[in-house]
Amino acid sequence: MSTPHGLPAPAPVVAPHSAEFWAATAHERLLAGHCPACDQWFWPPTRSFCPRCGGVASLREADGTGAVYSYTIVRVGGAITLGGEPYKDAIPYVLAYVELTEGPTVLTNIVGIGPDDVTIGLPVRVVFARTGGPDEPALPRFQPA
Ligand SMILES: [Zn+2]
Repeated sequence: MSTPHGLPAPAPVVAPHSAEFWAATAHERLLAGHCPACDQWFWPPTRSFCPRCGGVASLREADGTGAVYSYTIVRVGGAITLGGEPYKDAIPYVLAYVELTEGPTVLTNIVGIGPDDVTIGLPVRVVFARTGGPDEPALPRFQPA
């Protein structure tokens, strides 16, 4: 079964601490948090300090590949749906944790495959859903690799 209406792409709220991350998505680059001191990758990418050693964190471009770690198929729309109102007419769709090749897990959507065909361990690659013009942020989602 496929998503009948596709997923919406609402523009994210860009805060000062997330501006670099979202600017990269406009150019289809996926940045993740990285600690140069201990070589630890982490998510969410906007943390200022490394969760392992407390070192000053930075953003580093991830490969954009990974595998489905866990997922659920959202079949009921409504006020409690992640992302709220724009998603209520998009059911069914897949909400998933993708484990990036670098290690961290990312809460995202799986697209380009019927929700009932998603499996744990499915190799995936990032794709970017445009929220506006070419310089506007794009939402990282994942599709089968
Ligand atoms: Zn560290």
